[in-house]
Amino acid sequence: MADPAECTIKVMCRFRPLNSSEVTRGDKYIPKFQGEDHVVLGSKPFQFDRVFQPNTTQEQVYNACAQKIVKDVLEGYNGTIFAYGQTSSGKTHTMEGNLHDPDGMGIIPRIVQDIFNYIYSMDENLEFHIKVVSKTNLSVHEDKNRVPYVKGCTERFVCSPEEVMDTIDEGKSNRHVAVTNMNEHSSRSHSIFQINVKQENTATEQKLSGKLYLVDLAGSEKVSKTGAEGAVLDEAKNINKSLSSLGNVISALAEGSGYIPYRDSKMTRILQDSLGGNCRTTIVICASPSAYNESETKSTLMFGQRAK
Ligand code: ADP
Ligand code: MG
Repeated sequence: MADPAECTIKVMCRFRPLNSSEVTRGDKYIPKFQGEDHVVLGSKPFQFDRVFQPNTTQEQVYNACAQKIVKDVLEGYNGTIFAYGQTSSGKTHTMEGNLHDPDGMGIIPRIVQDIFNYIYSMDENLEFHIKVVSKTNLSVHEDKNRVPYVKGCTERFVCSPEEVMDTIDEGKSNRHVAVTNMNEHSSRSHSIFQINVKQENTATEQKLSGKLYLVDLAGSEKVSKTGAEGAVLDEAKNINKSLSSLGNVISALAEGSGYIPYRDSKMTRILQDSLGGNCRTTIVICASPSAYNESETKSTLMFGQRAK
């Protein structure tokens, strides 16, 4: 069983390759990589648990960021994996990637495969219940016992990896879209995917339960860069506020502070039982290597640094 005293926060940093418009514009490639865990931007060095250069494969990212957490969830821990970064930095590529391509699959489909492979390999005395919940554009409510829950999400018990992929596709189809100058659909809302694994040994009646949150955060870029106005601007301010609340919670956890400000945002209230305590947390900081995005990349790396 899980050791309640053992709480870990890992911060990984992934740089994507220059994209075609950055190449066409002749943007300078700015990160300098040193060893497996350092990147230098300008003259400032940043250290993380791992730094992934642009040529890192989806499989390598999965092995370093998620494989261990999946094992832990199957042993009864709770965990969360976040992708953080500005729009177009590679968050969705990292979390989802191409759901139906073996090489292109991101963290979520690989987790699903691993969990089902584990289940198929276990003896028949073990009974599994897998529930997945998919939600974008979250809105949090409280029941009469003040327990927070997310309204309007797709929630179901699943029996195969294919059923999980269908749930993700459905969750995407009701994703809220706000178009801004960055012109990236679905970048201004958080997307949360939750996998609950319950197991019971029918011979010994021993039970285990673990929960994993997989969070593709809204783009972290400053409001001014998006050129948003009116309701879209208000929404953008809310998102920036929820991201900074998340940063506060994670850095309080990393410091071992006695007070963790979970109640400051919807996101942290929902994730409360999977952050801190008996939990595993991995943050994947995603970044562009282009000089054009240097200031956003710096603030992304600073966010990651605060969590160390
Ligand atoms: P975000 O979700 O942060 O807005 P995306 O994941 O959608 O960004 O990435 C933007 C574009 O860059 C997509 O076309 C994606 O396929 C591509 N991309 C992102 N990361 C990588 C990478 N590591 N290797 C190759 N292409 C990538
Ligand atoms: Mg995205």
